[in-house]
Amino acid sequence: MRILHVASEIYPLVKAGGLADVIASLPAALAKRGLDVRVLLPGFPGILNGMLGLKPVIRIGPAFGAAVITIYIGSLPDSGLLAYVIDAPFLYQRQGNIYVGFDGFEWSDNHRRFGLLGWVAAHVASGELDPDWRPDVVHAHDWHAGLAPIYMAQNPGLKTASVFTIHNLAYQGIFPMDCLADLGLPMRQLTPHGIEFHGMISFMKAALVYSKKITTVSPTYAREIRTPEFGCGLDGVLRDRAGDLSGILNGVDPEIWNPEDPDIARPYSADNLKGKMACKLALQSELGLSNQAEGPLFAVVSRLFSQKGMDLLLAALPDLLREGAQLAVLGTGEDYLEEGFRHAAAANPEKVAAFVGYDEAMAHRFFAGADVLLVPSRFEPCGLTQLYALRYGTLPLVHRVGGLADTVIDATPGNLQSDSATGFVFDDVDRQAISDSIHEACTLYRDQIAWHQVQRRAMEQDFSWDDSAAHYEALYRSL
Ligand code: ADP
Repeated sequence: MRILHVASEIYPLVKAGGLADVIASLPAALAKRGLDVRVLLPGFPGILNGMLGLKPVIRIGPAFGAAVITIYIGSLPDSGLLAYVIDAPFLYQRQGNIYVGFDGFEWSDNHRRFGLLGWVAAHVASGELDPDWRPDVVHAHDWHAGLAPIYMAQNPGLKTASVFTIHNLAYQGIFPMDCLADLGLPMRQLTPHGIEFHGMISFMKAALVYSKKITTVSPTYAREIRTPEFGCGLDGVLRDRAGDLSGILNGVDPEIWNPEDPDIARPYSADNLKGKMACKLALQSELGLSNQAEGPLFAVVSRLFSQKGMDLLLAALPDLLREGAQLAVLGTGEDYLEEGFRHAAAANPEKVAAFVGYDEAMAHRFFAGADVLLVPSRFEPCGLTQLYALRYGTLPLVHRVGGLADTVIDATPGNLQSDSATGFVFDDVDRQAISDSIHEACTLYRDQIAWHQVQRRAMEQDFSWDDSAAHYEALYRSL
């Protein structure tokens, strides 16, 4: 069975968030099961520079505002899988963020940049671009690839099935109606039953209406997005498609995320946690925190946005400090949150550290060195950092929502005996709930025997890609 994955990010070439990690791992896990998998990516500088052995497949254009477009094929550096890359310098050869310009606003031609991605996917499906390889299934990810199913639907003879995965429903790719002309889609699709969304065009809605099957990245999020609270205005569409919507949890790449990784101060394992203390001391020293061992070190590795509950954490910070704990933050995002954490660090240099920036190796040192990873997200489709933290015996403290609810089991006193507790889970998104949960974590930390027991259990959790890939394969076969 031939599967084409279509996405805008892939670790380690271009990464803005968890999507990149998934696109690095899921196609490889499917290939391991014997499927013939390829990936289609936009030709951002990081992708063109990082691919191996690129060869041109076909030259097309002008299209989508680009005069010349060359489709290349080459190998991905980590998995060795084949990937098509769309080299359209006018659209993709830009410095800085792949979605946002230097003025802080989304690139004004994003509808063309990502419309082209879906359009090329549909033409790979039809065999017009590469007659040697036609997929049975096109699997598109997030709004950036969201037009693939609707372009495929323009070709009534096409047998290829489409699957669409929602990694985050809050980002929808919404553009003014007059962009339709640039996308080459017929006017008749601009209706409330098509891709029209409150007088605009929505790439996400197009995907939800036109793909054969819809998945999202955890079972709980699959239920939540059918409600007005989490549906971002698309809950009605998702309720209509409920029979075709399922949740499949993301996995973790154990080669990259494990307590013997080369980026951390000292390797350790569930049976021998001594190295973890060395990692904690090293992280405290690196960040200029006092080398205290008695209180827990809480950490954040996250985009700093209100989605992630970072404003609540800032509000709860005085309570965390009163517990005698420390906080280390690694993240970038909204100015007021970056400023808030910087300010807190300046006011409490021995207790709070804030590294405002993006640093992959440092993320590993945070996961290994911290005692608790804070993920108080208001909503969280799956969340990867809590899964990474579990691998390192760093107990996640999370809001019971989306994939966080599916992957962390609460260890507050009543539940300790359950033999399954792996972290701390709170129910309400407010300062009091997060502070209470921090208090529970600090209380358990004082009982080091119980703490180690939960740590070991956390490290034994198996969120491998093998399970998820088996679910995706079953879904493809059902098509
Ligand atoms: P999202 O995709 O919503 O940002 P996820 O938890 O699914 O959240 O994935 C976030 C990914 O980005 C993880 O791999 C995490 O380690 C990484 N990450 C987030 N912020 C940073 C940062 N400042 N430095 C390094 N890695 C980061």
